[in-house]
Amino acid sequence: MTISLDPARIERNRSLRSLTTLRAGGPAERFFAATTLDDLAEAALLAQSLDWRTTVLGSGSNVLPSDQGVPWFVVLNQASRIDVRRDGEVVAECGCLFQELFLKTAQAGLGGLEFAVGIPGTLGGALVSNAGAYRSNVSEFLTALEIVHQGERMWVDPEFMEFSYRDSILRRDDPPAVALLRVRLLMPVRDRKSIFDEAREYQRQRISKQPPQASAGSFFKNVTDRRFAESLAELPEKLKEAGVVPAGFLIERAGLPGLRVGGAAVARKHANFIVNTGRATATDIRQLAGLVKRRVAQTFEVDLEEEVLYLGDWSGYAGI
Ligand SMILES: Cc1cc2nc3c(=O)[nH]c(=O)nc-3n(C[C@H](O)[C@H](O)[C@H](O)COP(=O)(O)OP(=O)(O)OC[C@H]3O[C@@H](n4cnc5c(N)ncnc54)[C@H](O)[C@@H]3O)c2cc1C
Repeated sequence: MTISLDPARIERNRSLRSLTTLRAGGPAERFFAATTLDDLAEAALLAQSLDWRTTVLGSGSNVLPSDQGVPWFVVLNQASRIDVRRDGEVVAECGCLFQELFLKTAQAGLGGLEFAVGIPGTLGGALVSNAGAYRSNVSEFLTALEIVHQGERMWVDPEFMEFSYRDSILRRDDPPAVALLRVRLLMPVRDRKSIFDEAREYQRQRISKQPPQASAGSFFKNVTDRRFAESLAELPEKLKEAGVVPAGFLIERAGLPGLRVGGAAVARKHANFIVNTGRATATDIRQLAGLVKRRVAQTFEVDLEEEVLYLGDWSGYAGI
C-alpha cells in the first residue's frame, strides 16, 4: 500500500478552541485539515499504518477538548460533496454539513431529515452520535458506509455502527479506529412543500428554546425509564407515555439554571445547555457539568450521562 499524504501538511500544536462550538480547549499535538475524500482516507490510512491514535473532527459541536490539549492526531474533515438522485438514493461525504444535506435532499423532494435543521454539525458527527430530534434519527436512512478501518478503505453495512439512542460503536470508551468517509442513504420521496413546512416548524421551536451563546447543544442525554417518568407528577403525559424524561426537565427542577463555574453557566433559556459566557475554560465547563450531575443525582437519584464527548488529556482534571 502506498500512502501519498505529504507529511509537511501536518501541523503541530494547532489550537482547537476555534474549531469547537463551545469555544474552549487546548491544542492538538498533530493536526491535518482534509479537504477531499482522498485526503481524509490517506490521513486515516497513514495514521492507522503508524498506529497513531486519531480523532476525526467535524464541526466540533459535540466535543469538549481538554485545556491540556489532545496529545494525538486530529484530522479536520472538510470533504463535503453530496450527490442526490431523484429516486431517493443519496451519496454524501461525511464532512458535509448536516443542514446542507437536508437542504439538498429537500430540494430534490426527498423527506426525512427535517429534524436536521438547526443541528450545526457534519454528517460524520451526526452518525457517531446517531443525531436526531423530534424522535427521528439519522441512522434510519443509511444503507452503507465507506470507512477506513484496520488499515483498509472499505464499504460496510449500517450494522457495523451498532446504533442506538444518541449512540454508536464510535462513542464507546475505547472505540475502534474508524474514519467515516461517505455514506449511501435511501430517503423517501415526499411533497416538497410539506418537507419545508415541517422543517420550518422545527426551526421555529428551536429558535424559541435555544440560548444564543456558545454551546454544544444539549449537554446530557435524556433519561429513558418508564417507571421513573411515571413517578414525576409534573412531567407532561406525552413524555410519561413515551417513558422519556428530558435532562433539561431534571436540571430545571433541581433549581440549577443560572448555576456557574468560572465562565460556564447553565442556560436559563434551556437548562440542558451549558454555555460559554465568553471566557470559560474547558475545565470550567466540565466542572459545571459534574456539579449538575451531582445535584440531579441528589435530587432525583438518577445519573445523567453526557451527550458531549470529552476529548484529549484530562489526566490533570479535578472535579469540584
Ligand atoms: C446549538 C446546537 C444544537 C444542537 N442540537 C442537536 C440536536 O437537536 N440533536 C443532536 O443529536 N445533536 C445536537 N447538537 C449536537 C451536535 O451538533 C451533533 O451531535 C452533531 O451531529 C455533531 O457533529 P460534528 O460534526 O460537530 O461532530 P464533532 O463534534 O466534530 O465530533 C463528534 C464526534 O464524532 C466523531 N466524528 C466526527 N466526524 C467523524 C468522521 N468522519 N469519522 C469518524 N468520527 C467522526 C468525532 O471524533 C467525535 O467523537 C447540537 C449542537 C449545538 C451547538
